Amino acid sequence: QEKYLRKPEWLKTRINTNKSYRSLKKLMRENRLNTVCEEARCPNIHECWSERKTATFMILGDTCTRGCRFCAIKTGMPNELDWGEPKRVADSVGIMGLKHVVITSVARDDLDDGGAQVFANTVRAVRAQNPGCTIEILPSDMKGDYDSLHTLMDSKPDIFNHNIETVRRLTKRVRARAMYDRSLTLLQRVKEIAPKTPTKSSIMVGLGEEKDEIIQAMDDLLAHDVNIMTIGQYLQPTKKHLNVERYYHPDEFEELKEIALKKGFSHCEAGPLVRSSYHADEQVTKGAAQ
Ligand code: SF4
Ligand code: SF4
Repeated sequence: QEKYLRKPEWLKTRINTNKSYRSLKKLMRENRLNTVCEEARCPNIHECWSERKTATFMILGDTCTRGCRFCAIKTGMPNELDWGEPKRVADSVGIMGLKHVVITSVARDDLDDGGAQVFANTVRAVRAQNPGCTIEILPSDMKGDYDSLHTLMDSKPDIFNHNIETVRRLTKRVRARAMYDRSLTLLQRVKEIAPKTPTKSSIMVGLGEEKDEIIQAMDDLLAHDVNIMTIGQYLQPTKKHLNVERYYHPDEFEELKEIALKKGFSHCEAGPLVRSSYHADEQVTKGAAQ
C-alpha cells in the first residue's frame, strides 16, 4: 500500500502572488502580525484578501502551547503577551479595507485567562477603528474556563467560531489536550451568554473518519445549538503530520453539505478547499437569521 496518497486534480492550486498580495505580506511583517492565511499557506488567499476582503489574523504570538497533529503552527514556549497587538491588528484591518475579519489565536495554556483579555481588546480595537467590518472570533477552548469565555464575549463578536476539528473517536489522535465534549460545552455556553450570536464549528475530513461519524458530529453540534458548520479536506502540512487517509470527491462534499442543511444548520460550507474562515463574510447574516 502506498504510504502517501496522490493528490487529486481538484486540489492542485497555485498560490497567486501578485503585487497587491506582496504588499499585504509586507504590511504583516512590518506590523509583526501573523495570519493563518499565510502560515497555513491557504490556497484561497488571493480570493479572500483581494476579492472578498476577508483575512484571518492569528494573535497572542506565533508559538502554541499545544501541538495538534494536523497543525503547522510552531509549538513551544510562547512569546510574552503583546498588549500593543490589538491596535496593530485594527490598523491592518483598516489598511486592507477588510469587510470581515476572523481573529484566532494559538492556545495559551501558560496564561490564567488563556489570553482572553488581549483577545477581547483586539475585538474592541478592530470595531472602534473599523465600524463597517464584521468580526468573527475563533478562540481556543481556553481550557474550558468560564470566566475567560465571559471576558471574550463581553467584546461582542459578530460570530463565535470554535472548531471541533474532527469526529469524537479521532479527537485524541488529532487534537492535543483538547476534548470533544469540552468544545461542545464551550459552544453551548456562548448561546447561554449571547443567544443571538451565531455559533460555528468546523471539521476536517480525510483523517480516517466514517460517514456515520461525520453525521453524528453534525447531530452533536446541532444539539449544542451551533448554527453554522464548515467541512473541508485535511491536507498534510508536512511529512511529520498525520497522513491523509482519504481524499473526498467534490460530490461527496456536496452531499455532506446537503445533509447538514437538511438537519438544520443555517449555513454550511463544504468542499475540498473549504477552511474554517472560507466565505465567512456570507455567514454573518445567514447565521443570525436563526
Ligand atoms: Fe485566510 Fe481563511 Fe481565506 Fe484561507 S480561507 S485565505 S485562512 S481567510
Ligand atoms: Fe494548532 Fe490550535 Fe492545535 Fe495550537 S491548539 S497546535 S494553533 S490547532
